[in-house]
Amino acid sequence: MKIAVIGAGIVGVSTALWLVRDGHEVTVFDRVDPGDPTQASYGNAGLLARSMIIQVPTPGLLREVPGMLFRKDGPLFLKWWYLPRLLPWLVPFLRRANEAAVRSTAAALTDVLTDAVDAHHEIARGTAAEQYIENGVYTFLYKDKAAFEKEALDFAIRREHGFTWEELDRAALLERDPHLGTKAGFGASMFDHGWISDPGAYVAALFDEFRTLGGAFTRAEVRSVVPAEAGVIVTADVAQEFDRAVIASGAWSRKLAEGLGHHVPLETERGYHLMLKNPNIKPPNPYLLGAAKFGVSGMTHGLRCAGLVELGGLEAAASTKPLDLFRRNIRTLYPAIEWEGEETWMGHRPTLTDSLPVIGESTRAKGIYFAFGAQHIGMTSGPKTGRLIADMIAGRTPNIDMSPFRTDRFDS
Ligand SMILES: Cc1cc2nc3c(=O)[nH]c(=O)nc-3n(C[C@H](O)[C@H](O)[C@H](O)COP(=O)(O)OP(=O)(O)OC[C@H]3O[C@@H](n4cnc5c(N)ncnc54)[C@H](O)[C@@H]3O)c2cc1C
Repeated sequence: MKIAVIGAGIVGVSTALWLVRDGHEVTVFDRVDPGDPTQASYGNAGLLARSMIIQVPTPGLLREVPGMLFRKDGPLFLKWWYLPRLLPWLVPFLRRANEAAVRSTAAALTDVLTDAVDAHHEIARGTAAEQYIENGVYTFLYKDKAAFEKEALDFAIRREHGFTWEELDRAALLERDPHLGTKAGFGASMFDHGWISDPGAYVAALFDEFRTLGGAFTRAEVRSVVPAEAGVIVTADVAQEFDRAVIASGAWSRKLAEGLGHHVPLETERGYHLMLKNPNIKPPNPYLLGAAKFGVSGMTHGLRCAGLVELGGLEAAASTKPLDLFRRNIRTLYPAIEWEGEETWMGHRPTLTDSLPVIGESTRAKGIYFAFGAQHIGMTSGPKTGRLIADMIAGRTPNIDMSPFRTDRFDS
């Protein structure tokens, strides 16, 4: 079949690569090149966080929001002028800060995440992308055991879904990483995880493989994707006909999807990174700082602090406060750290109000598939998502329950 994929981040490139391997004639559309810094897939923390099945809204979040917003070191930022536009998304998003919703999200996410590290190995095998996949643990870090125990529900749910970890007291942490500051008092090291040492280069390498296998690329903004009598019409600079199309346009997918008549409550959870170049210290494996809400990963080009959440839409310029927060917190983690240069970055996580992605065929437009909305875990879930879409297009029934990811679940 002739298939168009709109978006060349990790989700679009993975989908395109599996489709071309299935023997289809595939064209990827994007206004930027794969691996471009404007993509969420470029600047993330690189964690293959297969156990990140716990959604952001958890019981008690509402009580914590004021502190997260107003405390000097709070990890949440808001462009206040954006609040009126944000509310239709924010209210249903926060309404799910209850145990039942956390549990149902976790069950659905486990299906796309549990074998996600294997899915990265599978898609990258035999390609230049393989060199960027690291295997290992990743460690949630807390100031003490009591702070870890505050997340007891999250860890209980992870255990129920088969994830295992090792608990590390301060002595055990120091044995692995002697540079840690005094605030690192307890850790939970998740087994069988991994990370990507250069996410932008990884996406670009997967894309190179797609091109080598005959895949095509059109560098253009897609304005609409609509069903036609015998297929789909994708309009960028010109209108072109395809048999199928996949919308994998990350945080920008809403307009294309709503053009088909679906209600798609998609927002950007803006996130930041600070890459420290030539640091004198790198972590032995990635950390997730529980209270500070960001990840610390050793990457090819330095030490990357990445995470935080800022609500403020797709258009506003990047803020400086999140970067200052990284600079302060990294000195708490590693009091002796020094570095020689910095790269700063802001990017857009695509998040739907129920914290699940949409993966599947539009119920309103036959032949058009959605693959977006993977919030904080899209780097991890990208290759598996691509495989699921390729399976559905080929008529192979996925061996997981796809109903939580339905395209029409927000339509009234
Ligand atoms: C700070 C931060 C840290 C993160 N850390 C992690 C992590 O450690 N692990 C993890 O798994 N996930 C992480 N994530 C989440 C992850 O990065 C995203 O979920 C994932 O990259 C989304 O991939 P995507 O392909 O959907 O979107 P993107 O990578 O944003 O790609 C979307 C592409 O679509 C293109 N596009 C959009 N609209 C159009 C159009 N109309 N026409 C043509 N092209 C279009 C865009 O140009 C873009 O190239 C993090 C995110 C952030 C911000």
